[in-house]
Amino acid sequence: DFVSLDNIPLWTPTGGGSEPSRYQRNEKLDQKISLFTGDITKLEIDAIVNAANNTLLGGGGVDGAIHRAAGPKLKMECASLCGCETGEAKITCGYGLPAKYVIHTVGPIAQGGVKEEHRKALRSCYTNSLKTATENAARSLAFPCISTGIYGYPPEQAVHEALAAVREYLEAHHDKLDRVIFCVFLPKDKELYLQNLPLYFPAG
Ligand code: ADP
Repeated sequence: DFVSLDNIPLWTPTGGGSEPSRYQRNEKLDQKISLFTGDITKLEIDAIVNAANNTLLGGGGVDGAIHRAAGPKLKMECASLCGCETGEAKITCGYGLPAKYVIHTVGPIAQGGVKEEHRKALRSCYTNSLKTATENAARSLAFPCISTGIYGYPPEQAVHEALAAVREYLEAHHDKLDRVIFCVFLPKDKELYLQNLPLYFPAG
């Protein structure tokens, strides 16, 4: 029940969206964006991003799902990495996953309100994951909604950091990536991405 890259449709730019876009249309970039609803551990692509914690030793949520699907070798490799700072990213093999690599990034804990340092850290998670992917020649990459679960970052704010980071990275490095997939799990997040994608990847 794996999902190959060919079966993940491209996002189709639409005129919709509630506000005028702050970006110009860039057709090169439109051909690299997907919104996928479902389980990130099923994606048969070069790399999936894990919303990990500082220990990299596994946890709940998407982290737990990735470790379960990858098997115990993933934890062994993670244990050799000496943890990961918030906002940074580290890469491992995918082991039992259909994805070749897992890029582990640690989002900010934003329970009790988003401060500027949280916003910057979340943006860094996306940018550093993209950088790590391209440094390892991974050309297709999927992101979960980092920090918006247990770590309490409001999803309606997090979506802007995710979309802006990807837009800006692709603007500068579009030759190095074939596909960036926003993998949403909750209906509410799907709505947020459908609402906000036209602001960052506009049709007109
Ligand atoms: P964090 O600790 O960074 O908040 P969580 O794992 O608690 O991470 O939540 C991050 C997001 O991952 C949430 O939107 C959650 O619904 C989603 N999620 C949980 N399981 C999966 C999965 N198997 N595939 C994709 N996304 C998932």
